[in-house]
Amino acid sequence: MTLRPLPKTVSPHPDELLSSWLARLAAANYCDFVDLLAHVGVDSRHTIMLDFALETEVAERIAVFARTDVDRVQSLLFPVLTQTEAALTAPVPLHTCPNCSRQGLALKHWRRAWVVDCQACGALLTPILGKPDIGLLSDQLLRRARKGAALLGSAVTLNSVSQIRRAMRGVAFAMALKRAGGTPAAALQSYNPEVRLFCLAAIAAVQKHPLLKAALLTTGIDDFARVALLRTYHEEARLLATVDRIACRIQHRVRTLRSRSSEQS
Ligand SMILES: [Zn+2]
Repeated sequence: MTLRPLPKTVSPHPDELLSSWLARLAAANYCDFVDLLAHVGVDSRHTIMLDFALETEVAERIAVFARTDVDRVQSLLFPVLTQTEAALTAPVPLHTCPNCSRQGLALKHWRRAWVVDCQACGALLTPILGKPDIGLLSDQLLRRARKGAALLGSAVTLNSVSQIRRAMRGVAFAMALKRAGGTPAAALQSYNPEVRLFCLAAIAAVQKHPLLKAALLTTGIDDFARVALLRTYHEEARLLATVDRIACRIQHRVRTLRSRSSEQS
């Protein structure tokens, strides 16, 4: 099949997804996105897969059609992902930037579970579906979530097993407290910004003295939180025993201090 190049070309954003660029290309040339896909030999039912894998033949056809080179087309796909990266990268659009989306852009980093703000313009990303009240979230939660997100991002980039495990432990605990089901990776990609940001914030919280923090939480908590803690640490009996020991020591110290102060008064 001989393809005639499109009259108008569109330069892709450095972090743009292939599907986003093709949609902009179609719009610039006043043609239908589905027709454009059919023209280069892509079944529109497979649009979601477009951003992850592309046959060389199709990439070549797109390059001719869009008057660019194959490498540029291929660069718009997600690179080969590690197992953790794949689990923490949304296969379908999850968040959008209220500013950049107005230009029809969809960027790769918006799919990453560890990204809170748009890296192109700095705006807070908003979920495509679900609760629109993201503006009502507290500044403190956002600050902590950004901290946790940065830690998770660096753990994934380094592919550090211990850092990823620690982060996921924090997420599991946060999920239990928020009564969120599913896997930690799914909670970090939740359409409910409260759950997602709370889970990210928990990653920052468990970085320093995680056992002491867990122990402090067990003193004076209700039964539900206790169950949450047990669920988080259920596969790590030794860890839970340590948490319990530290909690007992804290309670003992608190009781001693209280009785001393009552004796003095
Ligand atoms: Zn933006």
